[in-house]
Amino acid sequence: MANKTRQKIQKLKKKKVWPSILFMLIFLMLFAFLVILGIEIAIHYLINGKLEEFSKETAAVQTVIDSHIDEGEHIETIVRKMQQESDDFIELYVLNKEGQELISTGKSKPDFGRVIHYEGDRMYVLVADSNMKIDSEKHISQIVGMSLPELLTTPFEERPDAFSKELWMRQPIIHQEYWLRLPMQHTCYQVYAKCALTVSRQAMMTMELGGLFVLFLLLMPLIYLLVNLISTVRMQRQLTQILYMDPVTGGHNWYYFNSKVGYQLSCRSAARRSYALVDLHMMHYQNYCACYGTAEGENLLEAINEFLSTRLARREYYARHEGADFAMLFECPSEEDCTRRLRTLMAELPGLKPDKLAHFRAGVYMIDPAEQPDRFRIATRKHVDVDQMYSYAMAARTTASGQNRTQISYFNQLLLEQQNWERWVEDEIDTALISDEFKVYLQPKYNPTNNRLVGAEALVRWISPERGMITPNRFIPIFEANGGIMKLDDYMISHVAKLQAQWSIEGRKTVPISVNVSRVHFSVDNLAEHIRELVDAYGPKHDLIELEVTESAFFDDKNSLIQTVEQLKAYGFAVSMDDFGAGYSSLNSLKDIRLDVLKLDGEFFRGDDSQGRGRIVVQEAVMLARALNMRVVAEGIEEKEQADFLASIGCDMIQGYYYARPMPVDEFVELMERDA
Ligand code: C2E
Ligand code: MG
Ligand code: MG
Repeated sequence: MANKTRQKIQKLKKKKVWPSILFMLIFLMLFAFLVILGIEIAIHYLINGKLEEFSKETAAVQTVIDSHIDEGEHIETIVRKMQQESDDFIELYVLNKEGQELISTGKSKPDFGRVIHYEGDRMYVLVADSNMKIDSEKHISQIVGMSLPELLTTPFEERPDAFSKELWMRQPIIHQEYWLRLPMQHTCYQVYAKCALTVSRQAMMTMELGGLFVLFLLLMPLIYLLVNLISTVRMQRQLTQILYMDPVTGGHNWYYFNSKVGYQLSCRSAARRSYALVDLHMMHYQNYCACYGTAEGENLLEAINEFLSTRLARREYYARHEGADFAMLFECPSEEDCTRRLRTLMAELPGLKPDKLAHFRAGVYMIDPAEQPDRFRIATRKHVDVDQMYSYAMAARTTASGQNRTQISYFNQLLLEQQNWERWVEDEIDTALISDEFKVYLQPKYNPTNNRLVGAEALVRWISPERGMITPNRFIPIFEANGGIMKLDDYMISHVAKLQAQWSIEGRKTVPISVNVSRVHFSVDNLAEHIRELVDAYGPKHDLIELEVTESAFFDDKNSLIQTVEQLKAYGFAVSMDDFGAGYSSLNSLKDIRLDVLKLDGEFFRGDDSQGRGRIVVQEAVMLARALNMRVVAEGIEEKEQADFLASIGCDMIQGYYYARPMPVDEFVELMERDA
């Protein structure tokens, strides 16, 4: 159960976070890809746009030069002619191959140049610097309403605003020059155009703004995802906190303890240390609540919780398990150490509410250090099962007995064996019933005056193929605890009824046989009728069946017991009180219930009776039974002396090893035949 819840909490912790993180990563990758692609496209467009501009310009130059070269004239003539023909088109510079200026039509060194390579040993460079300059000048005058010379002579502060702004915006911030060879029709000249890739501030800013906008658009979902992720994680953390919170104490609950302790114990760093898993239990918590109120009870639990928080070290854990049980994990090298620590702690606990009585008990399961597999490998604890360990601590605590109210008890091998045994018995009962592993044994009852067989008691024996013969004391208390006893009692009643019916049919002289009915069975409605049906299924006479009710049953629901007994008697069954005198005093019950037989417990005849006091008690008990019109059976008689004494005081029957031990049915049949 705890494991399932722990797994669910773990799941919850991880839930949604991983898909979100994955989604975010995918989105980030996509985002990066888009940004790179965007930058590439922007650069591509920018460069392509610029190149287109140049190619238009250079194409114009190319056409002009081509049309003049046609005549095969000398370059100087070509240049002069070109200049004459298109005055506003070009400023020309012709250089020889050493770079010396041969012809210059401009006033200053141009920004743009075009080179004409003359066939032969001379190289000419034709440089043009026109459009851009003229364009920008025109442009400037259009914007500011001034010609360039005017503008240059005007003091800076008197210049129109637009000028400085515009000029600043138009300033190139990237300027990369390169040479472009022009494809000419005439191969006698090679013409190169000197170009430059210029990106103005304005273009850059537009690009940057565009980029920012795109970035913003892309960042929006990213931010949303991030916020969503953070809120999911926070919500899950809060939810886990709630799930790990104990509603009564406000501290941690069992799931927290289970998960923390499980983790701690499986840690490598903790493998070489020994721990104590403690179940600290407040006794009679229900009574405490009944006395002082539930709120006060919960107050106390809260105070205990707070107190424990101050007494535990780092990497030691505690939590309320349920009811008034607290689970704790101590780091303790030995049982003595743990006892010392628990004693101090438990001595302080009643001081939390000095005016109210509270008692505590503790069960401890010691967790030994993990064994090192070999010299090279590191020791770790495998298969840490906190639930199991805590159940061991609880088992140790519940078995703690005695008057010492601050008792501390440790889980040991015997307890473990008992637990394993109980589990085995519980698992096996159904299979054992189906496969007839339970056998009826019969213990004869004798009349001590004439030593004749006068009855028998049916006692169950479990003949397990796995474990051999198992006596009832080993499994009946377990069956009584888990309800399996009812099936077993029914089984025994049916079998005895079947035997009696069979013997009657076979014409044997039979004796009454008593069957034990557990006290637990008396909680069932219409028990008497149920028993009658079981018996009638085989049809023996009812007076051949006796039902033994253990003395302790008379302390349960007395009214229903009286009713059932009366009903059973009405159906013709004899009813006996078993184990009379064993621990309980049921003289009072004898007053209320009309029973047929009183079975004196074997304990009357155990131990030293040199004073003869036991005999007096037995004698009086027999007299009492007789006075109440009951027959008396003495159980557990092992010696002749005892049998003789019982005969002398008028005891009706004796059941004990002195006469016979419980035996299988076949043996009993032989005995019956011999006695007949
Ligand atoms: P019980 O009903 O009081 O049965 C008498 C027990 O005393 C039997 O133990 C019997 O073997 C034992 N006994 C008889 N004579 C002597 C003797 O001389 N000395 C000693 N030391 N013991 C003697 P057993 O068969 O082990 O049964 C133990 C108890 O288990 C029974 O006590 C009865 O309470 C319960 N039980 C046995 N069979 C059944 C059953 O079918 N149903 C139920 N509900 N309980 C059963
Ligand atoms: Mg009995
Ligand atoms: Mg008995």
